[in-house]
Amino acid sequence: MSTDPTVADGSSGMIQYVCVSRPHYRAGRSVPDGRGSLTIIQGRWAYCAAARPAEKHEWQEIQPVPVQGIRHARSWTAPA
Ligand SMILES: [Zn+2]
Repeated sequence: MSTDPTVADGSSGMIQYVCVSRPHYRAGRSVPDGRGSLTIIQGRWAYCAAARPAEKHEWQEIQPVPVQGIRHARSWTAPA
């Protein structure tokens, strides 16, 4: 099986979208950094700190950051 949709092509684990849903941001404050849920948006990794993959997200494109560099306390909606 060469068409695994869970494998992002070429981005080697860099997160390129984060969920900025307010409820998920707040929930993420009590989830350890890096323990949120990962999904694929348009072939790129997307990270939700709340670890609630079944819920609706608000994806914000970011400067790519490795999952180890994700900090849940950071407000991703503010410009870097
Ligand atoms: Zn979310």
